[in-house]
Amino acid sequence: MGSSPVPLELDFQPQLTGVFSSPARQNPTMPMVEAAYKHHGIYARYLTCEVSPNGLGDAVRGARAMGWIGFNLSIPHKVAILKYLDKLGKSASLIGAVNTVVHRDGQLIGENTDGVGFLISLKTITDPAGKNFVLLGAGGAARAIAIESALAGARSIIVVNRSRERGEELARLIAANTSAKADFVPWNATYRIPAQTDILVNATSVGFYPAVDTTVDVDLETLRSSVIVADVIPNPPQTVLLRRAAEIGCRTLDGLGMLVYQGVAGIEHWTGVLVDPRIMRNVLEEIFHVKKH
Ligand code: NDP
Repeated sequence: MGSSPVPLELDFQPQLTGVFSSPARQNPTMPMVEAAYKHHGIYARYLTCEVSPNGLGDAVRGARAMGWIGFNLSIPHKVAILKYLDKLGKSASLIGAVNTVVHRDGQLIGENTDGVGFLISLKTITDPAGKNFVLLGAGGAARAIAIESALAGARSIIVVNRSRERGEELARLIAANTSAKADFVPWNATYRIPAQTDILVNATSVGFYPAVDTTVDVDLETLRSSVIVADVIPNPPQTVLLRRAAEIGCRTLDGLGMLVYQGVAGIEHWTGVLVDPRIMRNVLEEIFHVKKH
């Protein structure tokens, strides 16, 4: 073999990205994102980092000093991160939470791709414009879903939540910033789904592993087969709610779709590359043993 006439360009320094969370170990984002990097020839790594609330500031300063191109935040850092950022994107500022940080021109910019992820996933089966939503929950995921759905033209959103304060606040936020009609219903009895509902979303943590047999307190006798039922829970992808809804004849959307598309949006923010969602979905389906149809 002849030797190369010019020295090869060596590069042992991938771009760095990752997630800061606690607990972090079970977060499946790393294999999903790295599969997309590999598929698209993006020379970057994605690290799962266990970061305690007390360590968040140091983690962010470290990422900045090491030139990370960006990172995700998961439980419990999505609101606490705000004080370390230089700027906020429009959705993140309305939602009041950040799940993706972009490091660009020396600035840390906070974005929220949870709601966008949900919306793109929803748009694979219906257009949210003009639809009547029932949203179970008023936490971080619910806020992101509500704001993005309302900005995408939802006609109305009924926020159903246990704690009155969070539910009322979310209904007020929607009404003040979007053209969607917003109402709050306190969740203190089995919830009966109104007849005009088009889309029902579980944005609570009910049904998340290991409590996989628990489900939301909703009267499924009132669920019509024309309603699209979505769940944010990624693990297990087929929650009790989604299984029952499918038995009734409803079209369903699992939490993996939201996870995949928030990842697509995050990678685009960091690298400018629009990655193929199927690559990421396949990895998650393998991890969660989803049966192929
Ligand atoms: P939060 O802690 O911010 O909010 C939790 C919500 O669930 C609140 O509305 C809370 O009501 C409600 N809730 C919790 N337990 C019950 C119960 N037993 N009965 C009725 N309501 C209940 O969490 P997040 O919004 O950040 O996360 C919610 C879920 O969304 C998690 O399971 C998370 O994994 C998932 N998620 C999925 C994503 C994806 O990409 N698929 C992305 C982001 C989150 P209350 O206000 O009364 O306490």
